[in-house]
Amino acid sequence: MAKESYKLCKNCGYKNDLDNERCDICGSEKLVRFDLKGKNKRVYFSISLLILAAVLFYLFKPEKKNLEKKVDDVGIFVSENRPINYYTYLRSIKQLGYIKDPDENDERAVIRAMGYDDEDLKNAAVETIKKWYKSTKNKKYLVYIDSGH
Ligand SMILES: [Zn+2]
Repeated sequence: MAKESYKLCKNCGYKNDLDNERCDICGSEKLVRFDLKGKNKRVYFSISLLILAAVLFYLFKPEKKNLEKKVDDVGIFVSENRPINYYTYLRSIKQLGYIKDPDENDERAVIRAMGYDDEDLKNAAVETIKKWYKSTKNKKYLVYIDSGH
């Protein structure tokens, strides 16, 4: 059975008992105490840190990855920080057009949809902004309607 704590002889490498002042084998006084238990704890702690780092990396990475993928490759991507189905997203962009008094969040969602490399999504976003322009007469929407063509 391996000793959990011992004094390692730096001269010959023998694992001496803890109460030894001299090496049993060669008589050297160059003994260094080792505690395997403590070492194991440190190893487990390092492994825990690595796992934690991997988990954090995984948690914060997927959003960016999904956004970089092409919409029609995966059918799913991130909107408002949660993954939703492409068709659900497209439908909700169209639905937003029926809001008579869009707030900042509505505007941000639709303007973001215009940024994707997908014609249906872009057209739906422009149609929604056209509806908002009709109902609000707010000229700030004209910029987006022009850029959509
Ligand atoms: Zn020795």
